[in-house]
Amino acid sequence: MKIIIIGGGPGGLSAAVRARRLSENAEIIVFEKGQYVSYANCGLPYHIGGVIPSRESLILKTPEYFMNRFKIDIRISQEITSIDPINKTVTVHKITTDEVYLEKWDRLLLSTGASPVIPPLPGLDTPGVFSLRNITDMDSILGWIEQHKVTHATIVGGGFIGLEVMEALRNKEIKVTVVEMGEQVMSSVDPEMVSPLHKEIRNHGVDLRLKTALKQISKTETGLCAELSDRTFLSTDMVILAIGVKPENKLAVEAGVLHGETGGIKVNSLMQTSVPDIYAVGDTVETNDIVFSSPCIVPLAGPVNRQGRIAADNMLGGQHFYLGTQGTSICKAFSLSIASCGVNEKQLKTRNIRYEKIYVHATDHATYYPDSTIISLKLLFSPDTGKIFGAQISGQKGIDKRIDILSVAQRAGLSVEELADLELAYAPPFNSARDIINQAGMVAENVINGHTAICHVNNVLQEGADRYCLVDIRSPDEIKRCGEYPGALCIPLDSLRSNIDNLPKNKEIVIGCQSGLRGHIAYRILQAYGFKVYNLSGGFLTWQSVMETLY
Ligand code: FAD
Repeated sequence: MKIIIIGGGPGGLSAAVRARRLSENAEIIVFEKGQYVSYANCGLPYHIGGVIPSRESLILKTPEYFMNRFKIDIRISQEITSIDPINKTVTVHKITTDEVYLEKWDRLLLSTGASPVIPPLPGLDTPGVFSLRNITDMDSILGWIEQHKVTHATIVGGGFIGLEVMEALRNKEIKVTVVEMGEQVMSSVDPEMVSPLHKEIRNHGVDLRLKTALKQISKTETGLCAELSDRTFLSTDMVILAIGVKPENKLAVEAGVLHGETGGIKVNSLMQTSVPDIYAVGDTVETNDIVFSSPCIVPLAGPVNRQGRIAADNMLGGQHFYLGTQGTSICKAFSLSIASCGVNEKQLKTRNIRYEKIYVHATDHATYYPDSTIISLKLLFSPDTGKIFGAQISGQKGIDKRIDILSVAQRAGLSVEELADLELAYAPPFNSARDIINQAGMVAENVINGHTAICHVNNVLQEGADRYCLVDIRSPDEIKRCGEYPGALCIPLDSLRSNIDNLPKNKEIVIGCQSGLRGHIAYRILQAYGFKVYNLSGGFLTWQSVMETLY
């Protein structure tokens, strides 16, 4: 069996190594057009920022290592320029010598990755405009910063890579403008969940320009000029384009391999393409998301690595299925992390799916143990079946752990109510005996079984004072410290019973507290007195985040 793999990234190499473990006799060749294989592209922004000081530590393994340990023939600086699916050959171009030769295969794996999206705007070929995909790009960026004594950089795009590079450049004390066409950074999460992130970014001196697009780049005497859609002109020393990636599918398309609407190569759950004996994995493929079972491209390292292993199993005669993608991801910008899994509210709305959402704010660990910080969680689920549609979490600490628990719960098909029953390790430095995940499960359970009725900030804003009376049950001190709900009737929780007669009988009551926790107590009291009442999910913390999205 001769296996040829195109691409020496994580998809190609995880397949190569797995194939060797399964078969000592298979001939395995990996072609990589670049000079490096097995390098940590996820680490590139951190080397730019100096957090990872050694460039060499990004190069995880060499071709010699793969030959010595796995008998895998890695051919760097060799590009596959065409695939012949009938005669089962690939054409190889040796970049260093310009030599061209054919190589035969029994099974072919496409792991060609993705390439940065470069929009058709004037001036993007001007020296000083970069994208970041590989070590060569990183070296060029660092070289430019050094040579041109960069004091200001413009980053176009507020996704993962844009934000990571933003932080890296701020670490180097470079002034940064982030230009983002959408209303928010990190489009994988909902707007109110990124409001704290917008604040964090601006608090670190970044000039964040939302709803603003790049129009063109031109060269000036002193550097570059970025023309923006709001008719402003930005003087800058360098521009980094980070507006997303697209599957690198050219080779596949030319060989007659089918791709989907997303541009990703179509594969079945065995990672097999439309052409027999050709498999594909990684950023270049289209898979199904586990919520809607609809085609998606999710260019993340976790799915890539799993797919590589699965493809190797199947190329060697196995029946190992890839069960879909959740898009579980996390990003850090300065001291705040934000993570998500599954689908977001924007996607549920677009597809007209019936859903409920809850917001829970709790501390990452027991408040009596030093240095606890707030975590904010949004959970989206079916009010009918309790199926978890998606989760989004932000905060300073413990975000990775919570999103991973939720991701596993979603993958395992647990309902939101079952989150209340999860037994999670507890000691004061790590969490609370009732972790935020348990709390979210309890809140969702109360919502589903009717023990509580919640409403959301948008309900209050849309239908307003005609329908609702907003009652703030926080203490006057707390309101002064944290901020007020405009127009709310203020009755602290502990005096609620004695103030029942002061509540309007002709309106529905919305309880507002700080995080939604005490609101449930007030809800139970008022319900017992016969009021039509709702607890404002997420309380003032969510209120504030939503309000910030409106301006
Ligand atoms: P790639 O890693 O892109 O590898 C494909 C390889 O194929 C390339 O080396 C390319 O040169 C080679 N190739 C293409 N065409 C040919 C050809 N014709 N002949 C020979 N060789 C060819 N993901 C996360 O989950 N978390 C993160 O924090 C994260 N951070 C990232 C930060 C950066 C800066 C970048 C760029 C990506 C990041 N990612 C992250 C995404 C993750 O790195 C990718 O999902 C992953 O690398 C994709 O693996 P792949 O093997 O599909 O493709």
